[in-house]
Amino acid sequence: MATDATTAEAYDRLVERIERISNVGNAAGVLRWDQEVIMPEAGTPARAKQLSTLSSIGHELLTDEETGELLASLESVELDPERAAVVREVRRKYDRETSVPGELVEKLSEATTNAHPVWRRAREDDDFEAFAPTLEELVELKREYAAHVDPDADPYAVLFADYEPYLELETAEAVLGELRDALVELIDAVADSDAELATDAFAGEFDADAQEALCRDALDALGYDWDRGRLDTAPHPFSSGTQFDARVTTRFDESDPLGSLTSTIHEFGHANYTLGLPDDAYGTPLGQARDLTVHESQSRLWENHVGRSRAFWEFFLPTVRERFPDLAELTAREAYEAANQVYDDNLIRVEADELTYHLHIVIRFEIERELIAGDLEVSAVPHVWNEKYEEYLGVRPETDTEGCLQDIHWSHGSFGYFPTYSLGSVLAAQLYAAAEDDLGELDGRIREGKFDDLNRWLRENVHAHGQRYTTPELVERATGEAFTADPFLEYVEGKYGELYGLET
Ligand code: ZN
Repeated sequence: MATDATTAEAYDRLVERIERISNVGNAAGVLRWDQEVIMPEAGTPARAKQLSTLSSIGHELLTDEETGELLASLESVELDPERAAVVREVRRKYDRETSVPGELVEKLSEATTNAHPVWRRAREDDDFEAFAPTLEELVELKREYAAHVDPDADPYAVLFADYEPYLELETAEAVLGELRDALVELIDAVADSDAELATDAFAGEFDADAQEALCRDALDALGYDWDRGRLDTAPHPFSSGTQFDARVTTRFDESDPLGSLTSTIHEFGHANYTLGLPDDAYGTPLGQARDLTVHESQSRLWENHVGRSRAFWEFFLPTVRERFPDLAELTAREAYEAANQVYDDNLIRVEADELTYHLHIVIRFEIERELIAGDLEVSAVPHVWNEKYEEYLGVRPETDTEGCLQDIHWSHGSFGYFPTYSLGSVLAAQLYAAAEDDLGELDGRIREGKFDDLNRWLRENVHAHGQRYTTPELVERATGEAFTADPFLEYVEGKYGELYGLET
């Protein structure tokens, strides 16, 4: 039996080790940010080598024998709950990384690096067959990977757990099924409605500099901490960083000022979560974000429940008019309608509205699940994709460019990632409802531009915990109930029922 002194020493050594691993990872994050935002394109070959070196240093530190010895010794004694949580999280990562042979890790990394340009060209040329052998290889390698991590588990469940480690795949599947059934019906009702929304409220040309100023206004209003953040442009908006430096990016389209604004608010939600992680736990699991579902819940909560609310438009419209004097006649109701229109003919996930978005996800989830299970041939993907679009969304892509080649994820070998987008929206609604239970209705505060109470609630109930709790525990503690789609369905049915004059 270990003594208290040796336990304390082992714990300190483990923490020291994982802090170094985190620092390597965070340094890679800054290099990636630089690559996306300011690096000259010619820098790519050197940057790829730098990132690959950092990634192998991180891997070596984690899988070192000493990590395993420290974990084993700490698991043989009783630890306080916080330390036990740290050990649980490191153990998870350690087991995953040590169970996969280095040779396979290298093959995977090589295959995904090569896949990216192949996918990009296939998408440009609308040539799925050019991408098919690469996709087949990635599916095969990922199945092998899953078999190494857990030979007895459903391989898709193993891959899903890389992004969402604690929600059971069955739970995710049930929730996605509920979304599919309810949303297909709701979207049909919207399509049949005679309501005429102010869909062209933001028609015209909008100067990119003025759009940027407006995005900064929004970040100011929401309470973004500029001492620990910045706003830049990137071709694909993202946010990255740590609790000391969490940055936001967006992009500007002169015909679509709502696009840059909503994506800025979305990325604010991510960065705001990161900034809410405890400073004193930096570098350990207690100072790191829970997982992708919880991360996405934070971005969707701010983007949709706040940024697409009527109250927000009542608050923010004067600022919009100041930046764009041409919009002097625009009303808050019109802006609200334009920000929430449902597109009945959209094929592209990243351009989807709050309702149809989830059917795009369900389709990808159903297809990748079957691919990984070995129940669907890669060559059949375009056909199945188009059939499902027709069935769930009533639209059929005419090209694979606008169909199954549109997303980057599979070329990264990221199978099991897509569901976390929808699960995040579902959790956003559940958290928002719980915050309103605790704080009272939030609309009045949003209309006055007061976001402090909501932010404090999120800090206390979500951000401050890092990875202290598993996802189901975190949800249960924050909301008083298990993860559920009910608040999300209630939210969309109420909101879109009113917007489109549906009988509810
Ligand atoms: Zn996001």
